[in-house]
Amino acid sequence: LANKKFHPEPTVVKVGNANIGGDELVIMSGPCAVESREQLFETARAIKKAGAQILRGGAYKPRTSPYAFQGLEEEGLQFMKEAREETGLAVVCEVTSLAAIEAAVKYVDMLQIGARNMQNFYLLKEAGKTGLPVLLKRGLSATIDEWLNAAEYIIAEGNPNVVLCERGIRTFETATRNTLDISAVPVIKSKSHLPIIVDPSHASGVRSYVKPLSMSAVAVGADGLMVETHPNPSIALSDGPQSLTFPQFEELCGELRPLAALM
Ligand code: PEP
Ligand code: MN
Repeated sequence: LANKKFHPEPTVVKVGNANIGGDELVIMSGPCAVESREQLFETARAIKKAGAQILRGGAYKPRTSPYAFQGLEEEGLQFMKEAREETGLAVVCEVTSLAAIEAAVKYVDMLQIGARNMQNFYLLKEAGKTGLPVLLKRGLSATIDEWLNAAEYIIAEGNPNVVLCERGIRTFETATRNTLDISAVPVIKSKSHLPIIVDPSHASGVRSYVKPLSMSAVAVGADGLMVETHPNPSIALSDGPQSLTFPQFEELCGELRPLAALM
């Protein structure tokens, strides 16, 4: 079902006013974690002004350490919904359990399956059953075929609205948090009709690499980007070092626009 051989036309996934896989570059942005109503609203307004179409924000955080901030859960989802109502931006949130899916369907426009859950087949099926668009991140050490099989689990539930997200894979390199597999974009384009976006924030883990990686993603034909932003990255509860400030994000969007227009 994810294979281009049996479905040659590209799939366009509609999320709010954004058409992912359509003619326009779709930019998703927001904090790694929803921390407070103020933090989220400030971010939503800033990214909208810069030209993003979708607000991201984690309410259930799959942290490496069990002692790190785990997210506001349903309260965070509620803030996401309020931010959508205020700004008109569509909202996407990661789900890490069936309970999170059951809560999220009441508040968000798109579900995100994180890298750590890419092969949680039970979760993929449950996300598929909701019928909501699903943003499927590539697993930390997943091959492209494993990733497309994960997408297959969602589509097999009768939900064709899957967007793939390349967010870097684990290699021997330690200069960056992960290694962005930029070749995944043209490989996916040759094998599948599904849209693919790139997350330069988790791929690099380093703020100063986000712009060059974003430009490269657009140049190889990505349908969109997911970029972490925060009103004050130095006090972020998660992923501060890779989060852009609002002026940095605005500058990035300004530089991406003419490049995207050439594609
Ligand atoms: C995230 O988007 O905040 C996240 C946890 O990403 P990943 O699953 O790619 O690590
Ligand atoms: Mn993050």
